[in-house]
Amino acid sequence: MNKLSYVSDSSTTAWSTYLQQIDRVAPYLGDLARWIETLRHPKRALIVDIPLQMDDGSIRHFEGFRVQHNLSRGPGKGGIRYHPNVDLNEVMALSAWMTIKCAAVNLPYGGAKGGIRVDPFTLSESELERLTRRYTSEIGVIIGPQKDIPAPDVGTNSKVMAWMMDTYSMNHGTTVTGVVTGKPVHLGGSLGREKATGRGVFVTGCEVARRLGIEIADSRVALQGYGNVGSEAARLFVATGARVVAVQDHSATLFNASGIDLPALSAWQARHKKIAGFNGAEEIASDAFWHVQMDILIPAALEGQITRERAEKLSCKLVLEGANGPTYPEADDVLSARGITVVPDVICNAGGVTVSYFEWVQDMASFFWSENEINQRMDKLMTDAMVHIWDKAREKECSLRTAAYIVACERILLARKDRGIYPG
Ligand code: NAD
Repeated sequence: MNKLSYVSDSSTTAWSTYLQQIDRVAPYLGDLARWIETLRHPKRALIVDIPLQMDDGSIRHFEGFRVQHNLSRGPGKGGIRYHPNVDLNEVMALSAWMTIKCAAVNLPYGGAKGGIRVDPFTLSESELERLTRRYTSEIGVIIGPQKDIPAPDVGTNSKVMAWMMDTYSMNHGTTVTGVVTGKPVHLGGSLGREKATGRGVFVTGCEVARRLGIEIADSRVALQGYGNVGSEAARLFVATGARVVAVQDHSATLFNASGIDLPALSAWQARHKKIAGFNGAEEIASDAFWHVQMDILIPAALEGQITRERAEKLSCKLVLEGANGPTYPEADDVLSARGITVVPDVICNAGGVTVSYFEWVQDMASFFWSENEINQRMDKLMTDAMVHIWDKAREKECSLRTAAYIVACERILLARKDRGIYPG
């Protein structure tokens, strides 16, 4: 195996987590394993410099990235992250997980991801807009509705997508709504997109819980991350009778054994942009989150959260990976040995990219569907994909993560094999 010279091969990085996941699937791929090296090499990685004139007249420079990991099955698809920890290693891993995710749910896309190393909360709105527009121009050479279609991720939202769509359109002399997804609904966005990832966590979680004989009603849910994904997943679980006993975000960890009042927490969070200070729960130390008595854990913040030590302490029966890459491979082994089922990110949080696909299809056709139609199509696509992966796990006697990787890698490597290597 050829190591890449441009990323650290430290074993704790997101890219190394991804490589270990690929190593685990290789023995199941038969003859297709011959092509697996393609998954260890991102097809294309673009690093851009973004000079920004700040509101006070000073100039700052930011690092931006767009990585297209694999395009064998179609155009690249993947979000744009604005976060101070963004680097090439993280974006590569996130792009690779998109390749696996799109194939696991059988969407006609490859995997990509982008981001800027910035804390968006320190910028004014006009600085954020200028940053976004310059970044979009810089990566404009490789994105496009038939090439690579960005979407929101941590630190970005529908407003950022509107600026991206407008900038790309200005540079091309025509309105190109299909260049990004997750846009506002009045600009070619799709109904249901904003809530789709959280909904997908709920749909896949319920399907697996039912098969494991776990009752959702009255089960205790603990949630890390109360943003777009976490808050919607939690809302749906509570609507089905579950109790959210613990919530952690970047500002605090809250605990209430009788269940946190989510509408009140959401109102607090909308006002203060954090959960700290909410008085409907006890504030506990951040590490105590992992020791809370719970039935279902939903990591919905950042990668690298479930370590071996934390996995040894967890009391849950089910982990629903709303976030991308929250579990280290060695923690996966501990969870599996302890009989805790993990619904892996590549299927659990695929609701967002599924409805992004619907948005792109609607933009191409200029024909828009009702929210009901979208939710029904998403629920069916996600449930069918989950059942297929469940059956594969039973057949191969492996974890749901390995099963999802088998299903996905077979599709990607078959496409690779049948397309062949240009120029031959
Ligand atoms: P978001 O920005 O809306 O919310 C992120 C949440 O994580 C916030 O509550 C934030 O306070 C919390 N957080 C940040 N740092 C933390 C820390 N150190 N400890 C605890 N909490 C912390 O982001 P989101 O869109 O909800 O995305 C969350 C995760 O889901 C990410 O891993 C993202 O890649 C993944 N994801 C998102 C989508 C989507 O459609 N939004 C789709 C697929 C996967």
